[in-house]
Amino acid sequence: MKIGIIGCGNMGGGMAAHLLASGQSLACFDPHSATLAGIVALGGEGAKSAGALAQACDVIVLSLPKAEVVQAVMADIADHISQGAIVLDTSTSVPATSQAMAVLGVAKGFAFVDGPVSGGPAAANAGTMTMLLGGDVGAIARLKPLLDLLTAKTVVVGGSGAGHAAKIANNMLCAANLVLVSEAVRLCQAAGVAPQDLLEGINAGSGRSGVSEVNFPKWILNGTFDSGFTMGLMRKDVGLAVDLANETGTPLAGFDAIADIWLNRAAEIVDSADFNEITKFTGEVCDD
Ligand code: NAD
Repeated sequence: MKIGIIGCGNMGGGMAAHLLASGQSLACFDPHSATLAGIVALGGEGAKSAGALAQACDVIVLSLPKAEVVQAVMADIADHISQGAIVLDTSTSVPATSQAMAVLGVAKGFAFVDGPVSGGPAAANAGTMTMLLGGDVGAIARLKPLLDLLTAKTVVVGGSGAGHAAKIANNMLCAANLVLVSEAVRLCQAAGVAPQDLLEGINAGSGRSGVSEVNFPKWILNGTFDSGFTMGLMRKDVGLAVDLANETGTPLAGFDAIADIWLNRAAEIVDSADFNEITKFTGEVCDD
């Protein structure tokens, strides 16, 4: 199975490094020449274009910033993809985009599977990501050897688009927990409880979450803020949750307040910052 990765940034580059370290031969493409050169230096075959990569591969992994870029890349490569090939979209994207790409694939003779991921660049580099899959079960079964290399856990959540819907829900909860745990920390500090003591208590109780168990000790309390996931990407994901709620007519009264913080009220935290910096938002910034 000849594998190619289009988009070799924090996540795609991590996956590429892991596949190469596992002895796979790998084609890669990224329009950012220094990014592509970094993967070529690890042994990847740099493709001249996304279309050239698509032509040469049985599995094409996408790791792209957002749905609009997925659509643009697919428009470029659709006529170059071999019959029977599989596109695995690990970007955090839009369910309707994946569904449209799956329909395009049926017409052109390839499969399009949505497989967004969790775990960040460290898990991409280690082959320990979690992947939420949506799409044709036969195509997902054929991906198993690759999924075994890239992930520690896969969950098939439904048909085309289901993976992205579930990933949007996952990141909605992560975004909410970052705001809520930081408020809990400030509340308890005001009441005389140290953050480390509070977190030890929360993490032994029903208030725990990935944010309290991982983000606070790993990137926030120690001040490193170097998770490899940006404010810009999390803002995109918060926006995707709001859009999906509007499209499906699902009221999200609680999350609306959280989304307003991410999208509007914490605007002084720039898109290039680490997403954990949202915990620095105190609510005082915009209160005149
Ligand atoms: P990134 O910005 O580091 O990488 C994206 C890469 O895509 C860049 O190298 C960029 O040059 C490339 N790219 C842009 N336009 C392209 C095009 N037209 N053709 C080919 N390549 C193109 O982003 P990332 O952090 O690696 O995230 C990638 C995706 O994975 C996003 O959808 C993100 O939401 C999701 N994600 C990220 C993380 C994380 O912790 N970083 C975790 C889970 C999911």
